[in-house]
Amino acid sequence: MKIENIGDLELIEGRRNSKVPYSTSILVKGKNGKGDALVDIGTGKEGYEYINENHDIQDIFITHYHLDHVKGIPYFQNANIYVNEIDEHKLNDMEVLGKAMGTYALHGASVVNQWIEHNKNSQPFADIMKRDKNLYPYDQTINVAGHDVQMLYAPGHCESYCCPYFPDEGVLVVGDYDLTSFGPWYNNADSDIDAFITSGEMTLNVDADYYVTFHHKGTFTRKEYEVALERYLAIIEERERKIIQLLKEGTAIEDLIHREVFYMKRNLEMAPLLLEFEIMGVAKHLKRLAKQNNYYEDHYQSFLDHHFAEPAYSDYFVQNE
Ligand SMILES: [Zn+2]
Repeated sequence: MKIENIGDLELIEGRRNSKVPYSTSILVKGKNGKGDALVDIGTGKEGYEYINENHDIQDIFITHYHLDHVKGIPYFQNANIYVNEIDEHKLNDMEVLGKAMGTYALHGASVVNQWIEHNKNSQPFADIMKRDKNLYPYDQTINVAGHDVQMLYAPGHCESYCCPYFPDEGVLVVGDYDLTSFGPWYNNADSDIDAFITSGEMTLNVDADYYVTFHHKGTFTRKEYEVALERYLAIIEERERKIIQLLKEGTAIEDLIHREVFYMKRNLEMAPLLLEFEIMGVAKHLKRLAKQNNYYEDHYQSFLDHHFAEPAYSDYFVQNE
């Protein structure tokens, strides 16, 4: 397990180099009489053990609801949990969670109900759903273990996403702007491509020395981050050009999801559930194309009708409910 130190922050790497379904956690060492805190907790057991043996965690701040960022919560029974007001709904109610993830849109109510029955009494869901949750505001200075922090609102990856900013340490946690060669991930019902780009550009307005990602690429200097972010965001346009080309070639709407816009064939063979994210990702692109050019509206509607049990829920935002 690798640990990187920046001032009072310990970046604790997750299992398998923090690759999904694990992620890096930030331990914030307490000062001015405050206890220690965590930002996100999904490192895997080695990380949880290390943290519990060496620190007394008072508070855990969750950037967003994705499982790879919250699944360690049950290992910290004495900690107070802090979430944003958008995630509060999803982390208290598995039906809302199923809608945000896109399960409801893809498969409908009965499958979501089965999924809830299957998971509600097992960890980590059982503990996460019942834990008391405190709310943190976006974009205001809050106190995390005695440090000033702003949770900069950055929707797109999902509706609730935010980037913790530690001005005194010169650290911006860009987290799931993970700068990997896979590219940006906006494959839930509550994801949005244009918001992803706007939020990505927002991170460049933040004055930081270190840009910390939560998966295997680690920490970037400002200069490295500028270059890597541009390359990363460009992948969105590459995917879009590919879809345009496939449609131009007359690719059938049911075949669009087997043309490696996001996931490689071998990845889909190894993990068939990834196909759900492929479908959602292509839907998000077709929605964007239809918004720019009416020509794509029919493709978008026919894709939704073909692949979704509840097409209206392919865009699901708690704030619109
Ligand atoms: Zn995420």
